[in-house]
Amino acid sequence: MRYRFMRFPEGKGKAVTFSYDDGSKHDVRLAEIFNKHNLKCTFNLNGEALRADWDYCMSTEEAKAILDAGHEIAIHGLEHRAPGTLRSVEGIKEILDCRRELEKRYGRIIRGYAYPDGGISGFCNGATKEEVYGYLRGLDIAYARSLDEGNFNISLPDDWYDWHPTAHHGSEKIDNYIDAFLAIDRSPKGHPASDAVPLVFYVWGHSAEFSHDDSWSRIEYICGRLAGEKDVWYATNMEIYEYSKAYESLVWNAEGNMVYNPTLIDVWFDFDGKLFEVKSGQTLTLC
Ligand SMILES: [Zn+2]
Repeated sequence: MRYRFMRFPEGKGKAVTFSYDDGSKHDVRLAEIFNKHNLKCTFNLNGEALRADWDYCMSTEEAKAILDAGHEIAIHGLEHRAPGTLRSVEGIKEILDCRRELEKRYGRIIRGYAYPDGGISGFCNGATKEEVYGYLRGLDIAYARSLDEGNFNISLPDDWYDWHPTAHHGSEKIDNYIDAFLAIDRSPKGHPASDAVPLVFYVWGHSAEFSHDDSWSRIEYICGRLAGEKDVWYATNMEIYEYSKAYESLVWNAEGNMVYNPTLIDVWFDFDGKLFEVKSGQTLTLC
């Protein structure tokens, strides 16, 4: 064996995910567009006190319907404050109180997070990255999405507390990025390769932007272009995180040709250009 790379469910080498912030009532229409195209999104919500002040927020019932359609709800801070500007105690309150409120309201475990207001793009008031990461870990946060105006980042994060999207939906380059992403072939090649890492196309934004500048056709177009690809897995942020962690939890023998899957998720990988699936609880000898 020379090279092994994670593959998404059914051996797919690419994934597409979306992340939309602030819980605007326009999320309802946006979710309908995602549903129509069989796409998955993570919707990042704030605390109720802040939401009540924002008359544009969707209702709890509307958010529940979005969850029922298979999307994710994640934390976006009790009062939408950037951790890079906060003392630890304030940052902890922002995330913990928002998490407790969302978990109570939606009756599920919620531990995805999208940094509000620039998040950790800068630090002041004594806040440091080490401190922020320390309380994210302590609060059991799985991943945290950063902001990125569009640098065509299609890698899985090596730092799950600094997950950079590929592009904002308004990026002028997004069409080129989609062309480039769809053109990449991650199918098994039948021989070892050193660069066959799995890829993720990640779009973020706010649904209120589509209403504000009447640009619903833009997200319809983006969804239409990304949807329906046979070699793409359409998943929420958390589904991608949990699948990646399951892959990392595989147990190998010293030789690297026998693998045991102790997780509850069936896991796929490319092994010297051939696809393998190791089911939950299974031990597999590869060669
Ligand atoms: Zn926000």
